[in-house]
Amino acid sequence: MPVLVMKFGGTSVATLDRIKRAAKRVALEVAKGYNVIVIVSAMSGKTNELVGWVNETSPLYDAREYDAVVSSGENVTAGLMALTLQEMDVPARSWQGWQVPVKTTSAHSSARIEEIPTDNIMAKFGEGMKVAVVAGFQGISPEGRITTLGRGGSDTTAVAFAAAFDAERCDIYTDVDGVYTTDPRIAEKARKLDKISFEEMLELASLGAKVLQTRSVELAMRYKVKLRVLSSFEEPSDTAGTLVCDEEEIMESNVVSGIAYSRDEAKMTLQSVADRPGIAAAIFGPLSNAGVNVDMIIQNIAEEGRTDMTFSCPTDQVMRAEKALNDAKDAGELNFADLIADTNVAKISAVGIGMRSQSGVAAKMFQTLSDEGINIKVIATSEIKISVLVDRKYMELAVQSLHDAFELEKA
Ligand code: ADP
Ligand code: ASP
Ligand code: MG
Repeated sequence: MPVLVMKFGGTSVATLDRIKRAAKRVALEVAKGYNVIVIVSAMSGKTNELVGWVNETSPLYDAREYDAVVSSGENVTAGLMALTLQEMDVPARSWQGWQVPVKTTSAHSSARIEEIPTDNIMAKFGEGMKVAVVAGFQGISPEGRITTLGRGGSDTTAVAFAAAFDAERCDIYTDVDGVYTTDPRIAEKARKLDKISFEEMLELASLGAKVLQTRSVELAMRYKVKLRVLSSFEEPSDTAGTLVCDEEEIMESNVVSGIAYSRDEAKMTLQSVADRPGIAAAIFGPLSNAGVNVDMIIQNIAEEGRTDMTFSCPTDQVMRAEKALNDAKDAGELNFADLIADTNVAKISAVGIGMRSQSGVAAKMFQTLSDEGINIKVIATSEIKISVLVDRKYMELAVQSLHDAFELEKA
């Protein structure tokens, strides 16, 4: 029998009523003849609450215990979903990550899935079970400890199961009815896309559009998983939502297909470092060793042999970055006058495959921001994206004005 993967995000399982509503959708697919693997998130807000409890108890927590705590939200919804299905006479049982087992690396709080053996669940399907409800976001390390896959990780659980079970499709049910040209909560003119290429979705996700976890898109692209994003609040239909697919399957294509933003970026400036060979290595070596993910970098013009170096990194890594650089300074490996962290910035990015063949996108983006009086602090580009760092207070305005400038409301 064909397998279908259905993932329900936090808002789709936020209450017992919503779990019932989601279960009804699952029952519809079972009636069509599918064996269904349901991946559930924690009830919305739950994971944030658990993370808060960990931070309050132990600011420099043991990541293994962090995972033990924050993975628990999904255990609750998996059990409740299985019970709800049983009440509807659909044969179902729940599985926690370790029971499957979802084998991951031991990188606690951001583990990667290495293998999902299918035999346990397939054996149950063979015995007449129709639905395997699996707790998303979690797995088990080679050391036998519970791991989690990073925030938003249930999307990745879903795609990994779809790949492992060779599912016909992986449906991601969320609180919006598809992938939009930008976050519809920020720009009311945002337009829903019927299709988006893996590459564009990958860029949008990694640049902040949290509708899909980046890793889930990577996996879907690699294993050719048919991935669909849709709302659990709309009436079921075969054409609902957005299909994430190969570039070749998309006919219409704007130069820019979407705008993403991220609040979680900080700008760090090292003032007055020596302008000499090896200085970048002396700065970014210690940062890399400390596990800081540096994104954008600019080195300013040198005056009298001294220069400023600016880079961006995730806001929650600022303390780690400061420590790494100050330690290097204390050890005499690096010299700078001051280290300034600016956490009041946001990263705004324009993404589009069309940028490969068309020039002028950067110029238009800079002009648009300039017309709005928005100062650009850092710029980074790649083949299909342009990102800028701006003051956070201009984030919404920047997203909306770029959406207008690139006429993304039009197909
Ligand atoms: P879930 O709990 O279902 O996993 P998330 O909150 O993780 O849901 O992701 C859905 C949210 O992603 C939407 O509510 C929306 O605000 C946000 N989002 C950001 N960018 C986009 C986009 N381009 N298209 C659709 N949603 C987006
Ligand atoms: N519950 C986890 C989170 O909030 C995983 C997920 O929902 O995808 O990050
Ligand atoms: Mg999510």
